[in-house]
Amino acid sequence: CRMTMMIPFDNSYARLPEGFFARQAPVPVRAPNLIAFNTNLAKLLRITPDEAEEMARAFAGNIVPEGAEPLAQLYSGHQFGTYNPQLGDGRAVLLGETIGADGVRRDIQLKGSGQTPFSRRGDGRAWLGPVLREYVVSEAMHALGIPTTRALAAVETGEIVLREGPMPGAILTRVAQSHLRVGTFQVFAARGQLDHLRKLTDYAIQRHYPDAQGPMGLLRAVRDAQARLIAQWMSVGFIHGVMNTDNSSIAGETIDYGPCAFMDSYHPNTVFSSIDRMGRYAYSNQPEIAVWNLAQLATALIQQFEDKDAAVEEATEIVHAMPDLMQEHWLKRFRTKIGLVRAEDGDLELISDLLVRMAQNQADFTNTFRALGGDHARDQFTDPVAYDEWAEGWRARLQREDTPDVVMSAANPAFIPRNHRIEQMIQSAVQGDYAPFHRLNDVLSRPYEDQSDAVDLTRPPSESEVVHATFCG
Ligand code: AMP
Ligand code: MG
Ligand code: MG
Repeated sequence: CRMTMMIPFDNSYARLPEGFFARQAPVPVRAPNLIAFNTNLAKLLRITPDEAEEMARAFAGNIVPEGAEPLAQLYSGHQFGTYNPQLGDGRAVLLGETIGADGVRRDIQLKGSGQTPFSRRGDGRAWLGPVLREYVVSEAMHALGIPTTRALAAVETGEIVLREGPMPGAILTRVAQSHLRVGTFQVFAARGQLDHLRKLTDYAIQRHYPDAQGPMGLLRAVRDAQARLIAQWMSVGFIHGVMNTDNSSIAGETIDYGPCAFMDSYHPNTVFSSIDRMGRYAYSNQPEIAVWNLAQLATALIQQFEDKDAAVEEATEIVHAMPDLMQEHWLKRFRTKIGLVRAEDGDLELISDLLVRMAQNQADFTNTFRALGGDHARDQFTDPVAYDEWAEGWRARLQREDTPDVVMSAANPAFIPRNHRIEQMIQSAVQGDYAPFHRLNDVLSRPYEDQSDAVDLTRPPSESEVVHATFCG
């Protein structure tokens, strides 16, 4: 008698009204093969693992595990500022939810699992590259301490997916505190489905912010979570790349790793995404976009009020407070990055001055901050004197701190998932060599530790290795 994989499902979303989703089983694939299974995350989710073959079938969607109630979620959203009235899970199905060992409810979703009623013209599939990219980057974000969806498993499908050319197909099993997005609210608000909008509001409050009072309490809670999140992205040089409202999580997690990227050399206007021609989602625009997205959530939530004037007034106040809030989080994070625990006037100017000099000198974002603890930061600048001038004022300021070194090494990772390494890893995987994928996962699981056998992964790309554009997959 063989043990089978057990997932203790408890599916709250499937109990919501039918208009919230379309029941949809994953579409089976030809030849499932397990690439990776995240044992630690499985433990947290209280999943009993099984043989690789059996898990490959489950995470490919060829068998639907006991207790799963697969469905595709409905949502809409603003894509690059333009409202699209219907998006929805076009290539994903929610298998269901589990309550983890930590008491937290989480979604288990297959991404790349075939067409759904929301596929529009898409094939419902994903290719290996973006699946491995999301696996590595989302797990790296988690290890960095940044709220994020996670990766439970990756499988090859044994099928070909057509993109720039024929590519090997794959499926990612994504875990999230929920897949509720700003766009989930927008779709019901835009359609005038106020009962659904109210039910969704109650559901989101119960699931994520049980202390929040009503729609405006929810808005405030999402604001706080998003403000914190965006400051964390900024503090590690992360560029999301597609901050559309359908990719903006109500739970405040980083979600949808498409054309995202970490900066190598610092410049505030950095953009990688091949589809972001106007630079709407450039690194330094992210705080402003987060406010814009929150304003769209506010607009949607307001529809459910009888007295709209009062709601508009309250919502405006909540949204308008977000920039300052983000700035506070940002300042706290960047203070820590340069070893400051105490707050003093002039800290903002000190940090900004460093960033300006870094931009002028093509300094590597990650390595410069990491090197502040030692004495090598100046080597990151094309003109090291630009650093020396800054460091003079910084050292004077450090005199008034107790333990700057400890503070800095815990705030400045040595390892981030660099683009060129991800590209190299994908190229190897396409050739059937998964060693670089596993190595990246291993090293990036301890980003704040010096790892002497992984120094190569701290290096910025050489000229020929530079990745100029990233794609949605
Ligand atoms: P994204 O840009 O990843 O946020 O996706 C935007 C929308 O396109 C979502 O509704 C996705 O489900 C849908 N989508 C993306 N790729 C595909 C695909 N290959 N097949 C069907 N739908 C897709
Ligand atoms: Mg998306
Ligand atoms: Mg996507």
